[in-house]
Amino acid sequence: MQLAVIPTMYPDESNIGYALRLAMRNGFTYIDRMIPKSLINRIVRGHEVSLSSDIQFYAKSHKLKRAYIKTPLFELATQIEPKICLRCIHEKGYINSEVQCPFTHQCSEHREPLIDKCGSCNHPLTWDITLLKGRCSSPLCGLELTPLRSHSFTSLSESQVADCLLISYFINNLDEPFVKRNRFASIPNYQERVKDGYELLNNLNFARELVYKSINKFSDLYPLNFAGTSLNILFKNLKNIWPASCVIQQHDKIARINFSNEILPLYVHNEVACELLALPRHKMQLLLDHGLVKTKRGTNLHHNTPVDVSPVIKLLTGYNKTNKMKCLSGMTEVLYRGNIDLSDIILAIKDKTLIIGFQAGSDLISSVYCNPKDLKKLSNDLRLGLKHKPLSIINPSIKSVVHTSPSNKRVKASANIYQLDLNI
Ligand SMILES: [Zn+2]
Ligand SMILES: [Zn+2]
Repeated sequence: MQLAVIPTMYPDESNIGYALRLAMRNGFTYIDRMIPKSLINRIVRGHEVSLSSDIQFYAKSHKLKRAYIKTPLFELATQIEPKICLRCIHEKGYINSEVQCPFTHQCSEHREPLIDKCGSCNHPLTWDITLLKGRCSSPLCGLELTPLRSHSFTSLSESQVADCLLISYFINNLDEPFVKRNRFASIPNYQERVKDGYELLNNLNFARELVYKSINKFSDLYPLNFAGTSLNILFKNLKNIWPASCVIQQHDKIARINFSNEILPLYVHNEVACELLALPRHKMQLLLDHGLVKTKRGTNLHHNTPVDVSPVIKLLTGYNKTNKMKCLSGMTEVLYRGNIDLSDIILAIKDKTLIIGFQAGSDLISSVYCNPKDLKKLSNDLRLGLKHKPLSIINPSIKSVVHTSPSNKRVKASANIYQLDLNI
């Protein structure tokens, strides 16, 4: 690319801001007349881009290094949508790189809220040359941008902004909160989200309403820690103490009034699903193989694969407890001695070799009841017959045989060898 003017980049200038300045100085009206959109997207994300031997964009590292601003929403602290400081533009003529930090809601120099949309047409700003002239980037508008009216809060720390964005995301994604984690921060309507989050975190009534809605989205057939799992994640990820913190933390005190028989899907990351079902990860794979949990696609589980745990609850809710049954949480010694975990119980229920009763409690183990004799029988069966344990679980090496060789003989031979080992 041959350009007449190549200005020097300021040390604190953002890559995309420099690209806009480069285009403006060379007489372009729109950035995409000079750089293809695919490259603009890479520049916005801080990737290394070379336009020619003398126009290089070096990679900007936006890793979330500081522990206090880690968030379940995105991995890298680079925001895709623009927000700008008008005073910086009028006084300095360039766009500072700090505006791309998702936790920066105001200019650190001028202490003014960053502008993310046009006050006249309400259109969200896009990365284009008009921003450097302090004008709206919508081709239908192009009017001069005006400073945003200050919020009731004057200045928030980065970690406070992170909290506001987190709870605002939670409000807007009650169906599946924290299941999707993007690589880059995409936060349309940025200032409104910060404001909404701030209001909720400071208002006990709003917070109670949110917690109530979130818990009662799920039928009371779900154990309480299942219904409150996203509130737990929300609370764990708040970096500051807010008036609402206590309400969110004590969500188990909220009355459950959803008595519906409908078991809605409940997607959580695999590692959270393992916690809810008190299982190691390879046992979750076993439940997936038996259709007792679901994934959106694929059959391989990673720690952050979204897993729907509702099929397990659907399986359990059909059974009523009788007087002879005891809660599993009161028989942990039998479970421990028999090396039984909840996957063994769940699979035995599915195979109808264990009769249980179900009454939702605080967690799964305190929701399942059975006759102690039946549990001991299951323990013996498992010890003698290796019931429910698929080859891949018994011995991981067998899995590779299954995958690499179609020979059933070899699989059986391996299984027999293992069986012999155990008998010895
Ligand atoms: Zn400024
Ligand atoms: Zn406008």
